[in-house]
Order: sequence, then C-alpha cells, then structure tokens
Amino acid sequence: MKICPMCEKGTLKKGKVEEEMFGVSLGKYDAEVCDECGESFFGEAEMKKMEAKAKELGVWGLAKSIKVVKSGNSLSVRIPAKIAKFLDLKEGENVFLYPDGKNKIVVEVT
Ligand SMILES: [Zn+2]
Repeated sequence: MKICPMCEKGTLKKGKVEEEMFGVSLGKYDAEVCDECGESFFGEAEMKKMEAKAKELGVWGLAKSIKVVKSGNSLSVRIPAKIAKFLDLKEGENVFLYPDGKNKIVVEVT
C-alpha cells in the first residue's frame, strides 16, 4: 500500500485519469490516484506519452513568459505566433479582454 505524498493520509490506487493542457484533452492515462485528496501521480512512461500527444495537438510549450512594453499611454503584450496559430487568431480581429482576479488577464477570442 502506497501512502499519498501530497496529503500523507490517503492511499494510492491504480486508475485512469484524463489529462488536459490549456483546455485541450490529451486523453486518459494510467495513474495512481489518492483515495483521500484525489491527487493523481503519473509514471515517467505516461508523462512521455502525454508530452507526445500534446506536441501532436499543438499545445506543447504554449505558455510563455512575455515582457510588457509601453505603447503610447497603454501597455502592450505581444501574442506569440504559436499561440495565435493555436487560437486561429488573426490581425484585425476583435478580442474581449478582462481581468480575472489580481493576477490574471483573460483574452477571449470570440
Ligand atoms: Zn492524498
């Protein structure tokens, strides 16, 4: 019996867990799931499969650190080409921009 390293209370049981990356499903993978806190743990082989699937779906490496630059009186954030391509976002299109709490900005492509 394996004890969960997260909550140190539950035990880990084998199961299938669906993983997603940036809202895109990567499918189901073999994992050990805690019966107490619900945290799931994947082995290295499953992590490799997820990575391959994420690359295949074009969601691998989409998160990027970007510098905010000044543009007139406003601030500007460039959308990397890879993200624009993933969203099928083109120049001249309108997006909906709003804060989500104090640490996040949502750019909604409509
Ligand atoms: Zn746990």
